[in-house]
Amino acid sequence: MSIFAKRTASLLTKHGKEEVMRPLLLKEFGCNVLQTDAYDTDLLGTFTQEIPRYGTQLDAVRKKAKVGMELLALDLGIANEGAFVSDPYSGMTAWNNELVILIDQKHDLEITGFSGAPAQSDNASVSRYEELIQFADSALFPSHYLVIKPTDEYHPESVKGIADFESLREAFDWAQSLSTNGKVYVENDLRAFANPTRMNNIQKATANLVDKMKSLCPQCQKPGFWIRDIQRGLPCNACGLATDEEIAKIWTCMQCNHEETHGMKVLRFANPSRCRHCNP
Ligand SMILES: [Zn+2]
Ligand SMILES: [Zn+2]
Repeated sequence: MSIFAKRTASLLTKHGKEEVMRPLLLKEFGCNVLQTDAYDTDLLGTFTQEIPRYGTQLDAVRKKAKVGMELLALDLGIANEGAFVSDPYSGMTAWNNELVILIDQKHDLEITGFSGAPAQSDNASVSRYEELIQFADSALFPSHYLVIKPTDEYHPESVKGIADFESLREAFDWAQSLSTNGKVYVENDLRAFANPTRMNNIQKATANLVDKMKSLCPQCQKPGFWIRDIQRGLPCNACGLATDEEIAKIWTCMQCNHEETHGMKVLRFANPSRCRHCNP
């Protein structure tokens, strides 16, 4: 039986994340998730400029887990922290990195799960309601909620969580009446409950966490035995130079530092089509 079986993990969130995180832990381990919003997670950072994030993404997610565990007096806690960046391939489109963490005080464990995926994070500056409707359509409104501010993204006031056309019209009129340049700033609301694309990515990160929680070290039997590094440089079959193709995966235990290299036993050389020298 897993060390997580029949236990209860805290989850500090006011944005409905328990809906995607709880079922995965319950199904895999019979581990319940108890949600709390007794601490305002916005104090650790918002996506809408008011409050910068608490430290790195890992600092913030660890802090959320620990606060949740304290509030509910549990020795097990999970948490999530998201980040929005440019995509790692072209740098041109919006990208969403979701980090989840499990802290187990009883067994002195910390395991993280991760998923990176395209984001629904768009923004525009509009002066007419018709322009706003056009943007709203391209930003997947109303399944994805919107945020509206007067003037520009730095305006201290905003309407968040706009979920229907009546509220959109009201927010537009309000913002225009306060705008100093006739412009209204609009963007996707990036909070989990307001952005199904993001919620889906939080689910993927949680699935990754669950996979790691299930993966036990062959030496010490503790969970979290996972790929630490991928060794690349498989020689090209034609010219013999190193390619970016994978040679082996290096698995490491975070508890006892046991390490295993799982190599590719069949393929000793890379196909020349993958070679920068033969096929640039
Ligand atoms: Zn180990
Ligand atoms: Zn080659």
